[in-house]
Amino acid sequence: MTERRLTVLDERRAALEMCGYCPKLCRSTCPVSEAEASEALIPWGKMSMTWYVARGDLAPDPDVARLAWGCTGCNACRERCEHQNPVAATLTAARAVFREQGLAPSGSERAVAGFAARRARLAERARALGSDAETSPVALLVGCGYLAARGAEANDIVNAARALFGAVHVLDGCCGLPLKEGGDRTAAAELRGPLVSSLAGRRLIVADAGCAAELRDVGAETLVEAAARRASKLGRVKLAGPVRFHDPCRLARGLGVIEEPRVVLERAFGAPPAEFERRGRAASCSGAGALLPFAMPKTARAIARDRLAEHERLGGGTLVTACATSLAWFRAQGATALDLATIIARSLTGG
Ligand code: SF4
Ligand code: SF4
Repeated sequence: MTERRLTVLDERRAALEMCGYCPKLCRSTCPVSEAEASEALIPWGKMSMTWYVARGDLAPDPDVARLAWGCTGCNACRERCEHQNPVAATLTAARAVFREQGLAPSGSERAVAGFAARRARLAERARALGSDAETSPVALLVGCGYLAARGAEANDIVNAARALFGAVHVLDGCCGLPLKEGGDRTAAAELRGPLVSSLAGRRLIVADAGCAAELRDVGAETLVEAAARRASKLGRVKLAGPVRFHDPCRLARGLGVIEEPRVVLERAFGAPPAEFERRGRAASCSGAGALLPFAMPKTARAIARDRLAEHERLGGGTLVTACATSLAWFRAQGATALDLATIIARSLTGG
């Protein structure tokens, strides 16, 4: 034991030890290590190296810190693990510690700085969508990813929520997830706190799977859950060719919301959606989560291209997802992709 030991990770010691003593039972589940063919990037490798640093056996440096960013937060390892060990949450905690030591990867730091600089503009865009309905009992969080993309999805989300609930109060705050994933815990908490306070007892509807998972503890309900509960209101949507649903990791594994998207898509198209080989809790990651496209862009692209190659092999068509970063990432690789919120909006407003 030396003074290099990171006592700040003590609260994560049990999770780090669990992996450190494990015979790597989840090794084949990680999209990052599969794409990189790297033993250091299997969940066991990332957790063990972090554990060695935490207990002072290994000096922290940029190479070992980078391992903590080699994670999309997909929770596939946790799903496979007999102990449900929280690898992604532990690596997120490690990012904060490494960042405080100036060891965060430059791509992640650029993403954090860019996000902080854009935040005021994103709040303005949210207000322009309709924050005037302050007396509504329903609050809607569109999500920074959708607001930043400046596509049709932000409007579709608001239109879908209005068709379901009438007037909704569009929140202009942020759950803080991108900053937390970049290791800036303080700034993340400074965003989340005011957002939660602004709910003021209202029901919270959230479009993005990542934001919803982050806010489940304060009652967040996803737009797709709300739509599936009112499935009788959903009409047919016209779209040429097959539609395949991609389960966002944080929707399926994070929140256990698996059948609701399929209920909505079956109502909208008159038949169940086409599926990937692995679906629901076993679904494969898009590569877009937890800032991987910023910290390790080639790896993140390789993961997305794997998904898209499978999609084409199974017949192609339109890919539907419910996560702003997955949507943008699939489109960036050339896929024809739609958000589930667009389908819900069209389904509720006449196709
Ligand atoms: S997540 Fe579970 S299965 Fe994977 S290395 Fe850690 S303890 Fe083992
Ligand atoms: S959460 Fe996903 S990306 Fe992260 S270590 Fe586990 S399997 Fe790999």
